[in-house]
Amino acid sequence: MGISRRNFLKGSALTAGTVALTGKAAKASVDSPELRIKGLQTSTTVCPYCAVGCGMIVHTKNGKIVNIEGDTEHPINRGSLCSKGSALFQVANNERRLTHVQYRAPGSKRWEKKSWEWAMQRMAQLMKETRDRNFVKQEEIDGKTYTVNRNDGMAMIGAAALDNEECYLLGKFGRAMGVGYIEHQARI
Ligand code: SF4
Repeated sequence: MGISRRNFLKGSALTAGTVALTGKAAKASVDSPELRIKGLQTSTTVCPYCAVGCGMIVHTKNGKIVNIEGDTEHPINRGSLCSKGSALFQVANNERRLTHVQYRAPGSKRWEKKSWEWAMQRMAQLMKETRDRNFVKQEEIDGKTYTVNRNDGMAMIGAAALDNEECYLLGKFGRAMGVGYIEHQARI
């Protein structure tokens, strides 16, 4: 049934009257938080995008995310999110989101679907080969020989989604591989 302009104004006047008499808005408006999340599961998370680490509330129904919003009780953001964080819902629910490994062999025009195990093995193998091929054990400077144990064939870059502990581990791993070119970019 449609709402006529007259009925809408009558309803508004009634609500305003209730507020004026009781000092409280009438309960169960369509905007009330109770109705908005009724029947949904609520969990908290941290935005994965940058090192600010804003807190978020995620609402799910039957295992599917139906809403993500800022957590008003989180000490970092107190409910606010930047445009990237606000759009996180679209990342979770996106038919174009890749959920498996895509591999294109050198020279091939075709993408192949691969398992994560396969991808991890392949990356480990290539990293080992690259390290061994480019490893510099010693270097001569001004006639003196120094042990450098340096891997000149690789570089590492960290992104803002990494937390302190992950940065620490990645830096350690890079140095253990002999990598000297370790960098960071905060907005990727
Ligand atoms: S990307 Fe935005 S919402 Fe996410 S943690 Fe950084 S500032 Fe917060």
